Amino acid sequence: MIVRDLAFRAGWIRHQARAELVIAALLFGATAPLTAQEPVVIRAGTLIDGKGGVQRNATVVVEAGKIKSVGQATQGRVSYDFPRLTLLPGLIDTHVHIDTHFGTSGKATREGETPRESILYAAENAYAMLDNGFTTTQSIGSPLDRDLRDAIARGILPGPRLLTSIVPVREDTGTPDQIRQFVRKVVADGADVIKIFASKSIREGGDQTMTDAQIQAGCDEAKRVGKRTWVHAHADSAVKAAAVAGCWAVTHGSQATDATLAVLAQRGTFFEPNIGLLLQNYIDNKDRYFGIGNFNEAGFAFMEKGIPLNLDMFTRALKVKGLKLLMGTDAGAGAHGQNAREIVYRVQQAGQPAMDALVGATSLAADALGLKGVVGSIAPGFEADLIAVDGDPIKDITALRRVVFVMKGGKVYKNVAAESQR
Ligand SMILES: [Zn+2]
Repeated sequence: MIVRDLAFRAGWIRHQARAELVIAALLFGATAPLTAQEPVVIRAGTLIDGKGGVQRNATVVVEAGKIKSVGQATQGRVSYDFPRLTLLPGLIDTHVHIDTHFGTSGKATREGETPRESILYAAENAYAMLDNGFTTTQSIGSPLDRDLRDAIARGILPGPRLLTSIVPVREDTGTPDQIRQFVRKVVADGADVIKIFASKSIREGGDQTMTDAQIQAGCDEAKRVGKRTWVHAHADSAVKAAAVAGCWAVTHGSQATDATLAVLAQRGTFFEPNIGLLLQNYIDNKDRYFGIGNFNEAGFAFMEKGIPLNLDMFTRALKVKGLKLLMGTDAGAGAHGQNAREIVYRVQQAGQPAMDALVGATSLAADALGLKGVVGSIAPGFEADLIAVDGDPIKDITALRRVVFVMKGGKVYKNVAAESQR
C-alpha cells in the first residue's frame, strides 16, 4: 500500500525535498507486481455522498474502477486512510471552454498559434481541472474538444471525463429547417450536447438574438435525435423561450425575472447561472483580454454591472422551489483549475446552503450531463471518481479548494495528503 502511494506520488510530486522518495517510488513501481484487480479500500473521517448524505468514519471499496460498496469503517486492510479528510464524489463543472488560454502572446487569443500548441494548452487546462478535483466536465464548446475528449478517454492523458458541443447554433445558422439540419450534422460529427446561442453576449447587453421558432427548432431536433441542449440566454425573454421550447438547460440567465425562474422550475429545465468566477476572472485579467472582440471599455462596463446583477438573480433563484440549480462556471482563459471558486462564491456571497451547492456540482450535474447513475455520487455501481479535501466543506466551503486526493475511474491521479491530514 505504501508502495502504491509512492508510485502515484511519483508522477505528480513537485517538491524537490521529496526527490529521494520519488526515486524509490519509481524503482518500486517498476518492480511491484500488478495489483489492478485487487480491491482498493478508502477510509475517510467524513464522506459526503453527492446526494445530500453525510457519513462519519466511512469506508469505500473500489474494484475494477467502480465503487463496490460504501459502509462503516472496517478493521481490515486499508489502502488509503484519511481520518481527518472529507471524501466526496469527483466534482463536475457543467460549462467550461477547455481550449481557452493565455497563449504565447500572453493574451487570451489563439492568434499566431499552431494547432499543436493549441491542443497542448487544452491538455494543460484538462490537467489543471483534474488536479483540482473536477473529474467530469462539459465544454461548450470548440472543435478542438473532440480530440481532447477522445485522448482523455483512452486513459493515459490526465483530465476530466469530457463532453462537448463542438460548434454552436446561432441566429445566423439559418431558418428553423436549416437549424434542424445543422443539429443533425453536429451530432453526426460527434457532439454530446447542442449549444444554442439565444442571446447576445453579456458584453453586448444580452438581448435575445434567435427567434422563438429558431430556439424551438434547435431544441426539438436535438431531442428527436436523443441529445441534450444547452441554451446561452441572458435576456429574460430568451430564458423563457428556451424553457417553453422544452430545451434541456439554460446557462447564464443574468436578466431572468422571478416569473421566468418559476417557469424554468415548472418545466424542469436545468438552470446553470455563472456568478462567482467568469466575470471576476475577466476583470482580474483585463489586460490579457482587452482589445479582443467585444472585450472593450463598453464590454467591461457591462461585466462590472453584471456581477451584482448575477448575485441578485441567484439570490432570487434560491427561493424558487424545485429549480434545478447546476454548478457551471463558463470558465475561460485563466480560470481553469479554479472552478470551485463558483461554489465558494455561491455559498459565501449568495447564502446557498453548502450541501445544495455540492449536490449541484455532483449528482444533479451528472443528471444534467446525461450521466445519471454513472458519476456524481458515492454509491455502489458508480464510477470510482473520488476526491478528498482538507477540511469539511459543509462547515468551511473553501475546503473545496484544498483537494489533496483525486481518483478517477479507480485510478489515483493525485495524492498529496500530508501525514497530519490523513
Ligand atoms: Zn460559455
